[in-house]
Amino acid sequence: MFQKILIANRGEIALRVLRACKELGIQTVVVHSTADADAMHVRLADESVCIGPPPSRDSYLNIHQIVAACEITGADAVHPGYGFLSENAKFADILAAHNITFIGPSGDHIRIMGDKIEAKRTAKRLGIPVVPGSDGAVTEEKEARRIAAEIGYPVIIKASAGGGGRGMKVARSEADLVVALQTARSEAGAAFGDDAVYIEKYLEKPRHIEVQVFGDGAGRGVHFGERDCSLQRRHQKVWEEAPSPALNAEERAHIGGVCARAIADLGYSGAGTIEFLYENGEFYFIEMNTRLQVEHPVTEAITGIDLVHEQIRVASRGGLSMRQEEIRFQGHAIECRINAEDPRTFTPSPGTITHFHTPGGLGIRVDSGVYSGYKIPPYYDSLIGKLIVHGRNRVECMMRLRRALDEFVVDGIKTTLPLFRDLVGNADVANGEYDIHWLEKYLADED
Ligand code: ADP
Repeated sequence: MFQKILIANRGEIALRVLRACKELGIQTVVVHSTADADAMHVRLADESVCIGPPPSRDSYLNIHQIVAACEITGADAVHPGYGFLSENAKFADILAAHNITFIGPSGDHIRIMGDKIEAKRTAKRLGIPVVPGSDGAVTEEKEARRIAAEIGYPVIIKASAGGGGRGMKVARSEADLVVALQTARSEAGAAFGDDAVYIEKYLEKPRHIEVQVFGDGAGRGVHFGERDCSLQRRHQKVWEEAPSPALNAEERAHIGGVCARAIADLGYSGAGTIEFLYENGEFYFIEMNTRLQVEHPVTEAITGIDLVHEQIRVASRGGLSMRQEEIRFQGHAIECRINAEDPRTFTPSPGTITHFHTPGGLGIRVDSGVYSGYKIPPYYDSLIGKLIVHGRNRVECMMRLRRALDEFVVDGIKTTLPLFRDLVGNADVANGEYDIHWLEKYLADED
């Protein structure tokens, strides 16, 4: 087991990882920018190292400073959290070259999954169902037209190097296709420095369903069921739940089994999420995230397993602590992402939190790094906390969520709490009847 872990992140996830380390009796080091000197995780860590000024590229993304912090403090492993360097293959390779363990998969696995064309090819080879489309990059108009005609309109053109929903264009007819291809390529080139694009069938009303997997790096793989993250705004997840209201036990076991076997065959190590669009009873792979996800607590709620403990254990070559048959699903969990944003316009609302009161009681978990008097710096992501509610079934979970949202107080800044208070009372949400476009339509109708 590791003696000392360096946490290369900030905010709620840095605190989340720190808690897991403390429980396991592992010493903690956090790195932070000058803007985060007052952060909760900095106060609670055994050691802290200031690695630079506020902009992320000068601090949380500065690989040299982070490696230097490991060497100064004698950390033997790094947990990257999510975002920042968590899916940076070069970072994983550099740490390995310094004999520091990256708590995550190998640089090569990060690289494969970071290239969407390569990821899709790999998924297909491993028996994971994928969206019908081009077999690799498409550059010629003629080829694009042929593929689109074959799979049928509408189609979507996506950037191989894509992320955050950028570089995607939908074409509803051959007339749209040429322009869509050109725009997607130039957007991808500008945003990612790589203009490779590919074509997929565009699904009209899918749900976003993702499977949590874990590999031990030695040929074993397990799944922890799925999460439904269909309630999204601008491709950003807003509300996540487990299990999905749309799946039955048979579908769950089937897709979970497919994913667990794929992870085992790949020799993958650590936590991963295989993301699908789901429509008319079919799953279509879109991408794999090679890290812990923001929404991992809903899976922890229904399985009772601490996924960060498991990541640390696997990274220290201790193997997985359980077999597939020992992972049981109990009840229902929902997570609301609370952002420091205007609940109508979603413009960021940094500033000082004058009063912060979190709900409590059975089945309630709040993961947050903020506190009364905390000043939210304007430089980073606007997520200030996550409310995770667990109940014996979805109805109980929703009742508890409504009550918890009523108790939650964040004064001094604007937050997205009012949006969740509206959603929890909505009939479609109550019935679990929504697809990936539902929230955008709901917000547009409100205006
Ligand atoms: P990114 O890495 O940029 O987030 P993804 O491939 O995960 O890109 O896709 C992001 C979102 O775009 C999906 O959650 C979905 O809303 C939409 N999308 C992607 N592919 C398709 C598709 N073939 N049909 C319909 N919507 C899609």
